[in-house]
Amino acid sequence: MYTTVIDEEDYAIKPMNCPGSILVYDLEPHSYRDLPLRYGELGHVHRHELSGALHGMFRVRCFTQDDAHILLAKEQIQSEVVRITKLIDEVYSVFGLPYKILLSTMPEDHIGTRADWEKAENALADAITSIGKTYEVNPGDGAFYGPKLDFEIEDCLGRHWQCGTIQLDYQLPGRFNLEYTDTNSEKQTPVMIHRVVFGSVERFIGIITEHFAGAFPTWLAPVQVKLLPVTDRAFEYSDKIKAELDELGYRVQIDKRNEKTGRKIRDAQMEKVPYMVVVGDRDIEAGTVSPRHRTDGDLGAMSLDQFKDILKEVVATKAIK
Ligand SMILES: [Zn+2]
Repeated sequence: MYTTVIDEEDYAIKPMNCPGSILVYDLEPHSYRDLPLRYGELGHVHRHELSGALHGMFRVRCFTQDDAHILLAKEQIQSEVVRITKLIDEVYSVFGLPYKILLSTMPEDHIGTRADWEKAENALADAITSIGKTYEVNPGDGAFYGPKLDFEIEDCLGRHWQCGTIQLDYQLPGRFNLEYTDTNSEKQTPVMIHRVVFGSVERFIGIITEHFAGAFPTWLAPVQVKLLPVTDRAFEYSDKIKAELDELGYRVQIDKRNEKTGRKIRDAQMEKVPYMVVVGDRDIEAGTVSPRHRTDGDLGAMSLDQFKDILKEVVATKAIK
């Protein structure tokens, strides 16, 4: 942790978000009707990793977790885990990332009874099978306070990255004296689920950058269309196309450098821009565009409206293209 002393008091920059959610829960009394209570945040955390352990975007000292802490009753665990698993599946599917699910069970060093652990492990396992998914068991690899599900992504090089987790926690709520009132007006301790989908947002960006080898799908690409005017005469027409595409929210650049067209095409290819459009006299006269896709090649001359339709389709469907 990064620590400091201010006015003779010890301070630390938070390495995790959990205590924050606990304090928010504890601001007011809760009844069973409030549960599950879901606190989500993009939590900025700092961990003083050894300098030798730092690695590009994969291991940094300051990163953002797409974190959530869900306070709930024991009976709600299974349905909540189903919800989270579906969310994780939806997010990974958008990126076309295959993944597997690992169920980590009771470690030797643990708190709670074996019966409670079994119940919790079964709730996680049943949630996964109830939506037609499978899991592998990782015996004894749970946290000391509860079992967990890990979602391991496989990138295009066959490497595995642990990203999402769903962690059951029977310990922290009790330590912080968290309560809710049940249907019999009796005080109960809620269970807490810690969950992330991306894990570290920075790391996830690193993973997909490697996975796509920089060639992001059109919906995600920082520059979606690059206009390459052949001569100065094509600047005005290029500006007009860009203005129309800007209007629709696409990310468009014009390469107005005084370079040969071949060079401009090569550079756009190196930048892995999904669509490049060479703009020459013929297109200006005919009022057309001649887009070329990064992997599909020349798409031929077409009206700007036709090109807009192509972009609309690949972006709206989040095609891996
Ligand atoms: Zn947490």
